[in-house]
Amino acid sequence: MIENKLNEFFNKKDEWNAFITICKDDAYAQAGKIEKKKLSGKEFPLEGMIAGVKDNICTKGVRTTCGSRMLENFVSPYDATAVKRLKESGAVIVGKTNMDEFAMGSTGRNSFFSQAKNPLNTNKTPGGSSGGSAAAVASGLVDIALGTDTGGSVRQPAAICGIVGFKPTYGRISRYGLIAYASSFDTIGIMAKTTEQIKSVYKCISGFDPKDSTSSKHPAKQKVFDTKALKIGIDKKLMEESESEIRQAVEKGIGVFEKSGAECEYFDFAYSELLIPVYFVTAYSQAASNLSRFDGLRYGFYDESIKNSEEVYIKNRTAGFGKEVKRRILAGNYFLTQGNPVSIYEKAQKCRKLIFSEYKKLFEKYDIIISPTYLGKTEDLNDNGAGNKFFSKNKYEKSLMPANICGFPAVSVPCGMGCDNMPAGLHMMSEKFTDEFLLDAADFYLKNKNAEKEGI
Ligand code: GLN
Repeated sequence: MIENKLNEFFNKKDEWNAFITICKDDAYAQAGKIEKKKLSGKEFPLEGMIAGVKDNICTKGVRTTCGSRMLENFVSPYDATAVKRLKESGAVIVGKTNMDEFAMGSTGRNSFFSQAKNPLNTNKTPGGSSGGSAAAVASGLVDIALGTDTGGSVRQPAAICGIVGFKPTYGRISRYGLIAYASSFDTIGIMAKTTEQIKSVYKCISGFDPKDSTSSKHPAKQKVFDTKALKIGIDKKLMEESESEIRQAVEKGIGVFEKSGAECEYFDFAYSELLIPVYFVTAYSQAASNLSRFDGLRYGFYDESIKNSEEVYIKNRTAGFGKEVKRRILAGNYFLTQGNPVSIYEKAQKCRKLIFSEYKKLFEKYDIIISPTYLGKTEDLNDNGAGNKFFSKNKYEKSLMPANICGFPAVSVPCGMGCDNMPAGLHMMSEKFTDEFLLDAADFYLKNKNAEKEGI
């Protein structure tokens, strides 16, 4: 069966530029290995699934570019833990998905390998930075895809492409083999059309990994999902700041929970204005530090015209990195060094603590916090790169940030139509280590939303 599925995949045309690299030989070899092991009685929980993996997650023997010229020809000598576990569970990886360079962006425009398109409307972007993964799932090319979420990059493209996007608790899926952007936010996430698929993949790839020092051994909080006992908090400011069509779609979504007996209440988040600066100051600073390893000496782009050691850093990084990456490295270094008496980075960490303590209080009251996933319109492809402007469109990403700033699990589920006949996303977030509970809530929502539509 998997053979037929693979044949079908490799015969289809990727009209959405969802993939940077297709790995045909590896996919058939992997399928062959599974078949062989099955003969000796081994069972594979993800058997029959074909998967895309975002191109900043290392895959042994297949190039991992990070959407950058810097790593255009980089072939990883090992598999990331998430990839290793995906393979061991029987999923077959068919390719590496397109992305904004080093996961910096929200539209896919920053990819060195050209822009991915939205399968629901090819004049629109698929979102970003995991836009290729979202497009691969939404177009039906693959069953599931791995993405990465540093500041919403799994949930935002999932919302924009009308699929489910899940970002687990920080520390739940190993970051070993994920090329770092902002280490204290980076999380591998899962994208699929159904919550069942996400649940089964999560079960297989999550869990402690000694190779990742931030991997957690914390047990899952035992929390049973029961709508009648459910307390939901709705972020009032985020609702107000979103486009009216999106807000209305989310309100309808909240109605599904209300009708089933959940208690829903609006709240005012005191530090709403801190979310974007804290995210960007932290992310840019950590990126500046993480990306200093790319000098073309150990791996990556090397300019053959280099004449002396001074030119190594300048020429390789000038040609290897795109505009947005350079902008973030410059800003990040500034945040790390400027400020009196402490750096801007240190100030942001103090604010990060404040935000966390406020959410801690909110989670004493609420089981789930709801907001729209992405507050604005899906961008057109020919927007002349307006999405690249410093902070210009980032106000629409506000509801994505808390889960990364605080390490909470969060999920985006499709909730009807937003602006320009494009889907809206309903965003749910819960306390750390309640990932399974959150996925049950997402599952409940999708089943009941559909039951309502079908008049059941
Ligand atoms: N859009 C955000 C950024 O540009 C989020 C990126 C991400 O989650 N990788 O940084």
